[in-house]
Amino acid sequence: MERDPAQTERPAAAAQAALRRHWGYETFKPLQEEAVAAALAGQDCLVVLPTGGGKSLCYQLPAAMGRGLVLVVSPLIALMDDQVAAAREAGLDADALHSNLEAGHRGEAYRRLAAGKTDLLYVSPERLLVGDLLEDVAPRLILIAVDEAHCVSHWGHEFRPEYRRLAEVLERFPRAARMALTATATPAVQEDICAQLALRGPARFIGHPDRPNLVYRAFARRDQTAQVLEVVRIHSGEGGIVYAQTRKDVERLAAKLEGEGVSCAAYHAGLPADRRRRAQDDFVNERLDVVVATIAFGMGIDRSNVRYVVHANTPRSIEHYQQESGRAGRDGLPADCVLLFAASDLALHRALALKDGPLAPERQRVLERQLREIGRYAVAPVCRHRLLVEHFGAIYQAKEADADMEAAGCAACDVCLGETKSLSDEEALLTAKKVLSGAWRMGGRFGAGYVVNLLLGRNDERMTRNGHDALQVFGILKESGEAAVRSWMDQLIVQGFLEVVEEREYPLLRITPAGQDLCRDEGAVRLGVPAAPAGRSRKKSRTLRKGLGADLPSDEELFERLRRLRRLIAEKLGVPPYVVFHDSALVEMAALKPKTLAALRGVKGVGDRKLERYGRVFLDVISGQSPESAA
Ligand code: ADP
Repeated sequence: MERDPAQTERPAAAAQAALRRHWGYETFKPLQEEAVAAALAGQDCLVVLPTGGGKSLCYQLPAAMGRGLVLVVSPLIALMDDQVAAAREAGLDADALHSNLEAGHRGEAYRRLAAGKTDLLYVSPERLLVGDLLEDVAPRLILIAVDEAHCVSHWGHEFRPEYRRLAEVLERFPRAARMALTATATPAVQEDICAQLALRGPARFIGHPDRPNLVYRAFARRDQTAQVLEVVRIHSGEGGIVYAQTRKDVERLAAKLEGEGVSCAAYHAGLPADRRRRAQDDFVNERLDVVVATIAFGMGIDRSNVRYVVHANTPRSIEHYQQESGRAGRDGLPADCVLLFAASDLALHRALALKDGPLAPERQRVLERQLREIGRYAVAPVCRHRLLVEHFGAIYQAKEADADMEAAGCAACDVCLGETKSLSDEEALLTAKKVLSGAWRMGGRFGAGYVVNLLLGRNDERMTRNGHDALQVFGILKESGEAAVRSWMDQLIVQGFLEVVEEREYPLLRITPAGQDLCRDEGAVRLGVPAAPAGRSRKKSRTLRKGLGADLPSDEELFERLRRLRRLIAEKLGVPPYVVFHDSALVEMAALKPKTLAALRGVKGVGDRKLERYGRVFLDVISGQSPESAA
């Protein structure tokens, strides 16, 4: 790459100039500037920023400054080509070396590397471990960035054995600075990363884990298909991911959505590789709106305008939830994250974890803690942003209610938006005691469904035969309705007052000692109820349709035309649309309607190279031309 004229300036000013020139951004996001400065000063560092926090820039910017080569280790081979395309769009000399590369491309990449022309090189850990890159790489290497660094830790949620061996390789490049990056890491995982990658007195840049643009909701699951469909319909025409627990769930839900005319595909590890690849490509390239998937989907997904993520089943841990729901709204625009909860999901997770035999005691404890935490997240009527943030060891600063805001707290979760209501302490205790006494009376010999019928006073032949319709608890919660009673039962399970035990393959509901204590007024309980049937209050809430206009006066018609133009250009170039421009840049264009190249350059995300390549055609469409004739 040619030398950057900004290079002779002070490092901070030079970094700022490169940010503007290559990416078209005026200011850094939190901690980016510090991470870049550390890298340029040769200091090791750990960077923990939430998804969408702008991690890539932390290592791409040093590469853009023409001082040498930056090596990026990433496990996401499927993503590398898109990352290279995006870096090239920003004007960097970028390449990737991984096993899926065509021979021709590989040869070119090696030639450029040997000639000292590469600024940024993505490699898979396997490729780096082969060890033959040393000669080509060493002389110009200034920084090794290890992306998805949580993969090095057993404590994380995606351990990869080959990451454990990276320290050996890093030792062979003692002069290069090391940067470990991840989106989700509890303090214990952060420690482990620093130790496993042998970071030398690292600076730590730990961002705030909150994602304020995500609107979190968690509801009791009643009718999975209907509840999923409701969210998909609100976002019709937009990108979304639906996560389900098992392959069977995935196939069933995908078929149902397709039957309802939704543009969608199924994705799970049991499908043939070409079908999986097609689903992923179509989704990233915006030819497909919805992917219904198991958690096998997502690691390689970099579509920045995913507008919603629905969990049709409860995820395995809060870390999983943060990671999976975090795929929504990377572009910083509002996006919805909806979790449909049932206590039976947790039992299935447990059963799957134990299917190959009992776990070591330590692993068993971790599993139980994780299930308890995600269950609590899903049912406790507590601000969901707060719960997530506190889980990752940070403090959540809630907003005060003011005249302009719909709700106090985060104003971006079902609890703070008033869609889920918390019962008062007395009401909660009274209700809990009713549910618990029903379970207690049944002596742990019946399933949850039977106890629900008992509490609702539903008489059937079995109930009469057992004489349970004569009990005092029969019909004690008749007025509350089945949805509420089931949800309370789940909430009491998650809080440890009830438990489900398997007996001869049959799940039985049992009161725990803590539940018995609560019936004697010892201990405290929290219970929530939906304040309105899910969805009815959704209109006043924050979703993208409104969100686009939240910060800027939006022109949706123009935004859609710009989106079409972007897709036409991306198809021509064979890159995903977000590589051309992010949605946020299109939103700003649609709002500001710039008339000149100079004015267009003022839009965030329009750097020198993009202005030169696409400026004219985007101005044409803004001034009224159709995308098809402009492109
Ligand atoms: P992460 O890898 O942390 O999830 P990315 O590197 O993908 O985040 O960046 C997320 C989004 O933020 C991208 O659209 C990127 O272009 C944008 N971005 C990065 N840095 C800045 C900045 N300084 N100002 C504005 N937008 C930025």
